[in-house]
Amino acid sequence: MQTRPGICQRKRRYATRDEAEAAAARAPFKLRAYTCSLCGRFHLTSRTKGMKTPRHELAP
Ligand SMILES: [Zn+2]
Repeated sequence: MQTRPGICQRKRRYATRDEAEAAAARAPFKLRAYTCSLCGRFHLTSRTKGMKTPRHELAP
């Protein structure tokens, strides 16, 4: 998946896939972990329509 720099910076980062998937499992919606080509860590995506990033994917 291609990640835009702005998205990478705004999203939560997870050091490992296990950590990302654990976070995804706690969420009340379907999330998928993917490796970010920019930071080399993991982010979550819910594959919603359009390009806006859901609040739950953003870092606090
Ligand atoms: Zn990233």
